[in-house]
Amino acid sequence: MDNKLMLYNSLSKKEELFVPNEDGKVAMYTCGPTVYHFAHIGNLRSYIMEDLLEKTFRYLGYDVKRVMNITDVGHLSSDADTGEDKMLKGAKREHKTVMEIARFYTDAFFEDCRKLNIRRPDVVEPATNCIAEFIHMVQVLLEKGYAYEMGGNIYFDTSKLENYHVFSGQTEEELLVGVREDVEEDANKKNKSDFVLWFTKSKFEDQELKWESPWGTGYPGWHIECSCISMKHLGEYMDIHCGGVDNIFPHHTNEIAQSEAYLGHKWCNYWFHVHHLNDKTGKMSKSKGDFLTVSLLEQKGYNPLVYRLFCLQSHYRKPLEFSYEVLDNMTNVYNKLVKRIAELGDEGAVEQDKFDAFKKRFEDALCDDINSSMAITVLYEMLKADMNDKTKRELAKSFDEVLSLDLCSAGAAKEEEVDEALVRHVMEKIEERKAAKKEKDFAKADAIRAGLLAEGIVLEDTREGVKWKKV
Ligand code: AMP
Ligand code: ZN
Repeated sequence: MDNKLMLYNSLSKKEELFVPNEDGKVAMYTCGPTVYHFAHIGNLRSYIMEDLLEKTFRYLGYDVKRVMNITDVGHLSSDADTGEDKMLKGAKREHKTVMEIARFYTDAFFEDCRKLNIRRPDVVEPATNCIAEFIHMVQVLLEKGYAYEMGGNIYFDTSKLENYHVFSGQTEEELLVGVREDVEEDANKKNKSDFVLWFTKSKFEDQELKWESPWGTGYPGWHIECSCISMKHLGEYMDIHCGGVDNIFPHHTNEIAQSEAYLGHKWCNYWFHVHHLNDKTGKMSKSKGDFLTVSLLEQKGYNPLVYRLFCLQSHYRKPLEFSYEVLDNMTNVYNKLVKRIAELGDEGAVEQDKFDAFKKRFEDALCDDINSSMAITVLYEMLKADMNDKTKRELAKSFDEVLSLDLCSAGAAKEEEVDEALVRHVMEKIEERKAAKKEKDFAKADAIRAGLLAEGIVLEDTREGVKWKKV
């Protein structure tokens, strides 16, 4: 297969040609949501851009298997294994059980994804389904000497690795800035960067979900989930792993450490990281209190796909600042775009050479490290280009396999809505006229007919009843 996709790889810090382990196939993994609350639109920026990546692979002809975990246990409020358990925090907040919270917010997450046209990954696996796999991996790491038991918990020993900080030349201290929400030292750790694989004697007396293990009753650390779940479904070699930039350290760094120590070979070749959505005060996060959700945008009258377009207009490796003003502008842009496509005719034959040339330009934009704003520019240029409407319509349909903006159906749906409103209006008038005739108020009946005519609607009395048409 013709590999032509250039992708920035966070591991090498370079753009590289994407070549999967198996020709034509992509094994892709995405860190899923921690389901203790609604996803905010920052989280969803990551999922939109990862969806775009997945659809680019598919558009280029790759057979993709995409796996995502659902974090329903083990994620503490600091990514560095300290603080409160996020799931427990959610359960307490809502006076529900952890599993109730997990179910509710998992469904809410996929509902948001549906509204944003984010395809559901081929495999979605909650962490609590895979406890046996986690225990097995921890056991192997202990046997191989990469892990130790201290204070009842099992830790990964980062000093056993030659290169723990695979992603960056930055020091641990520098990397920890921004991921710690509270500064709290775990005295059990031999090295500062060691991390928990399995908690047993944890500080959480009231931990709701716990399982038997060779080291006592407990629960898994967060990082081990992604290593085990990806290997369970994608095997020992993975092509690409995705997440937001805040996942680089410590989460992805720790995933690589334990996975490669466990496997004894390189695990994943490409790492794709989406930069953050910020608001005026900085990174959007749930801990800040008020946070923006898809439902909130809808309540304010925004179409979720306008938010998708907003995300696509900027590159995934640049921070993006959210504001309602920009979203208002984007609403106009979106409405004009779908209207323009809805107005395209459907007659005639596709001009194949022009179709192929534009499809190639669109692919080239995506192959340039997922240059989504350039892909949208190609869409605009295509709509302005000298070719028949049929070709334009087919190209819009084709581009929408990746962009997923409902380019061809949104405008049509709007027109139908208008028509529906018109039908309701005409039907009401016909009923009023019928009633007027029954009352022998012919002047009123005629006035209604004349009023409709002025609106471009002609009534025709037939034996089957009143018919109408637009003139
Ligand atoms: P979480 O549910 O906290 O595990 O996060 C889910 C995903 O959202 C992860 O891939 C994070 O890296 C990503 N993420 C978190 N905050 C933001 C943000 N402000 N902008 C973009 N992505 C984010
Ligand atoms: Zn993960």
